[in-house]
Amino acid sequence: MNLVIFGPPGAGKGTQSAKLVKEFNLFQLSTGDLLRDEVSKKTDFGNKIEEIMKSGGLVSDEIINNLIENKISNSQYKNRIIFDGFPRNLEQARSLDNLLKKYNQQMSLALNLKVDNQILIKRITGRVTCSICNKTFNTFFDPPKKCDLKNCDQKNLVTRSDDNEETIAKRLKTYDEKTFPVLDYYLKKGIMKNIDGMQEINAISDQLFTLIRAIRG
Ligand code: AMP
Repeated sequence: MNLVIFGPPGAGKGTQSAKLVKEFNLFQLSTGDLLRDEVSKKTDFGNKIEEIMKSGGLVSDEIINNLIENKISNSQYKNRIIFDGFPRNLEQARSLDNLLKKYNQQMSLALNLKVDNQILIKRITGRVTCSICNKTFNTFFDPPKKCDLKNCDQKNLVTRSDDNEETIAKRLKTYDEKTFPVLDYYLKKGIMKNIDGMQEINAISDQLFTLIRAIRG
């Protein structure tokens, strides 16, 4: 069972994917995380990617499709991937279909977290992540406290370089222009489910669990 989770930046895709990974023993494939790994290597390639991410635009389909094929081709993850942040445009959606076919897999469910823009902006500008254990907090809604690791304190909290108001406006625009049409692509396949992403975190995950159990039988 492969899944894809949609929603604009700040909708909670990462938070919910982490819960689905635990509940159903899935593998979270976040293209944003893969790109941030490249950026942290400080290579020429990583620096180019960082520029694009800071601009709020999309990294080229070729780069993304290579990153994705690396994972889809790995038998360890076969039929247990949650695609988070991918596909982000129609070309990527078509490439994903071709890759799934090539590796004898299919997409079972597309989940769409719906959140109003005003809330998204607060969620993103308030987002801080522990650089040691990767736990995410929000200075408005879920103020940082001691996280799961021993010796982990608030000195380790970092803000993503693209989580500032200027970049957010561009990321939301990119979402509306490029990613929104992809929802229709999955709607036509009959596997799209909309979820109110403004509910409390556990209420959302309960709904997602129910939807997934329904298709797993
Ligand atoms: P995210 O962590 O999913 O919010 O992604 C952060 C940034 O990485 C985006 O604003 C894009 O610049 C880039 N990015 C992530 N996923 C993709 C993708 N599938 N295609 C193109 N660019 C992407």
